[in-house]
Amino acid sequence: MGRRAMTSSSVPGAATSVPRSVASSADPDRAPLAMVVGPTRLAPSVLARLGDQARPITDAVFLADIRRALSQLRSVLGTEEGECLVLPGSGTAGMESLAVSLLDPRRPALVLSTGMWGERWQALCSDLGLPTAIHRAEPGRGLDLDRVESLLAARSYQAVLVTHVDSSSGVCADVAAVTEAAHRHGALSLVDGIAAAGAEVIRQDEWAIDAYLAAPPKALSGPGGLYLVSLREAAVRSLVDRDFSPRGYSLDLRRWLPVMRSLAEGEFAYFQTPPGNLMGALAESLRLVVEEGPARLVRHDRLAERLRRGLTESGVELFTIDPTDRAHGVTVLRTPEGSSPAELVAAVERHGVVLQAGTHPVAAEYTVRIGHLGNHTESDIDRTIAAIRAAMAEF
Ligand SMILES: *Cc1c(COP(=O)(O)O)cnc(C)c1O
Repeated sequence: MGRRAMTSSSVPGAATSVPRSVASSADPDRAPLAMVVGPTRLAPSVLARLGDQARPITDAVFLADIRRALSQLRSVLGTEEGECLVLPGSGTAGMESLAVSLLDPRRPALVLSTGMWGERWQALCSDLGLPTAIHRAEPGRGLDLDRVESLLAARSYQAVLVTHVDSSSGVCADVAAVTEAAHRHGALSLVDGIAAAGAEVIRQDEWAIDAYLAAPPKALSGPGGLYLVSLREAAVRSLVDRDFSPRGYSLDLRRWLPVMRSLAEGEFAYFQTPPGNLMGALAESLRLVVEEGPARLVRHDRLAERLRRGLTESGVELFTIDPTDRAHGVTVLRTPEGSSPAELVAAVERHGVVLQAGTHPVAAEYTVRIGHLGNHTESDIDRTIAAIRAAMAEF
């Protein structure tokens, strides 16, 4: 089953609009509309949990929140077999935690880069003294899987590090195919799915992805400050059996694993103090994601199509060349002739919509990012198109 299996046509009559429970209460005439990759807009019931009083970490509510978050995470990532962990830290801390915990400093890993987040994988490995080789996709293109195959055949790698959705290029990688190739050559697949989870089809078990990393403040519309990991058996085994000392302490998943196993059973255990209000807000945001179900992906698909149609009709060129490479929650466009990313972003903001300048390692000078992941509606998309049109008319 491909990652594009979930289309609007596969769920007849699925709702296009965001459910009332997650819609924003912002007044569209006054508040600027943030169409950014993250952090994304939180539903009122998630916001409410952020204001929770601090509780002892043995508290029943806290334990129930963690348990719920862990079980909902399984459903979001399409895994029953994966061991899930919900940990304090940014998305980058999550990437570092996978590297620290799973990568043997004596063996190389292969980074497959589709933009800035691939570069980050490489940079953090390099600072940790973990050897890597990097393969970069052509700017605006997906990975060349034949090339990946031949790189894996030419040298032995312990792991492949890949970005599911790279927000700097708008590329959604075929992580199922990458994982298959990695496994053919005895490598683990570690997937940064921070900009994918909640907006893309993810079948961790079916695709046999060894480690999947997600974070709440992008398409999951949850609080910042936590990262979410799911490890399948091969990754757990290499973690538990590893014979090297990790290049980090607080990010070491081996120390966290028994703690999470206890917490998943509702039993208190301690390694570091998890932020209770974030756990509560996370559990609520994942509950909403699970409740919306497949309709959430359909909604992202329809909104992405609507935005791209509107942009192309206005003469805007997309940076991500092949439609089959395009992510469902982020669109990267080329700035029109005669305007810089900063100028376009400023002009669009004068029309009430906040976009973000490009961050691609070699294309930042001529790209702008639009985030349409999380709790967006058709009217958000229409406002965005109108604001971009109005801005372009000024150039
Ligand atoms: C946002 C993002 C990150 C980093 O998350 P931070 O919380 O900003 O550290 C990593 N990878 C991808 C793909 C992202 O979109």
